[in-house]
Amino acid sequence: MEKRIQGSTKLLALFGSPVSHSGSPAMYNFSFAYHGLDYAYLAFDIKESQAAEAASAARLFQLRGFNVTMPCKNKMAECVDELSPAAKIIGAVNTVVNEGGRLIGHMTDGGGFVRNLKEHGVEVVGKKLVILGAGGAATAIQVECALQGAAAISIFNANDPFLERAKVTAAKLKQEVPGCTVTVLCLDEQDRLKEEIACADILVNATKVGMKPNEDASPIADTSVFRPDLVVADTVYNPLETKMMQEAKQAGCRTIIDGEGMLLWQGAIAYQLYTGLEMPVEEYQKFKNEGK
Ligand code: NAD
Repeated sequence: MEKRIQGSTKLLALFGSPVSHSGSPAMYNFSFAYHGLDYAYLAFDIKESQAAEAASAARLFQLRGFNVTMPCKNKMAECVDELSPAAKIIGAVNTVVNEGGRLIGHMTDGGGFVRNLKEHGVEVVGKKLVILGAGGAATAIQVECALQGAAAISIFNANDPFLERAKVTAAKLKQEVPGCTVTVLCLDEQDRLKEEIACADILVNATKVGMKPNEDASPIADTSVFRPDLVVADTVYNPLETKMMQEAKQAGCRTIIDGEGMLLWQGAIAYQLYTGLEMPVEEYQKFKNEGK
């Protein structure tokens, strides 16, 4: 019998579809129990067309907050009362905190990426990044790195509809974060990619290339771009070690970062927004691994 659930227990939730595979309920409920907080977390299957109703329900049921996943991230940004600086530029939210009836939307994916870099001893302040991709993950990373003081970001995307999105992000960052120089280029321009990586500190793959079932693919065709002091980070977490990471390792890159940490830290940042406490990340990892 669950002893924690009582009349005063406050609800937190995940809204999106599908959600039944999500690891968030286990992670947050473990953390609430760890800190002795009177909260419970459940996942609800919510379609994009139901985002506004879900936001109203969150107000009605006085949820402390909720996470938002696909396909509701953009729509939910229109349903909240206020947006964080990053969420405002991106136009999407993955975390909403209920502050006395006012819903405040945040996007913690980029913050999770930056925090994960920090955990590996890498700072973004004053750095030049080459970021491959312009979808949801890439945009969140680009915006957060700019807000957190990156000097320059070169965005490379394939010649697909996301290339236009990269241009929109670059235009918004030019206005909101003029101290960061943002350039958009097409991934077909392989010579430019080589030049940009040669003068970059950090290379990020935020495309779907290398993700299962296409784990034999890498977004980097010319592996001569890898050098020992280039930080190589992947957002892909399935597989944990992508082909790009393997090739960077073979080329002697000293700092290679997988996508799992970003996933973990974006959740930890949300936890801090809900509770004001640091999520017990290490303890949860240990608990999770014991159950395997
Ligand atoms: P998305 O659909 O929003 O964007 C897809 C991106 O991949 C676009 O930039 C597109 O141009 C690019 N792309 C797709 N196929 C390509 C190809 N064949 N060649 C070159 N580029 C190609 O997806 P998303 O949600 O931004 O996810 C992108 C990656 O980030 C995925 O691998 C996903 O697993 C990962 N991700 C990781 C985290 C995390 O916490 N680690 C969070 C979200 C997403």
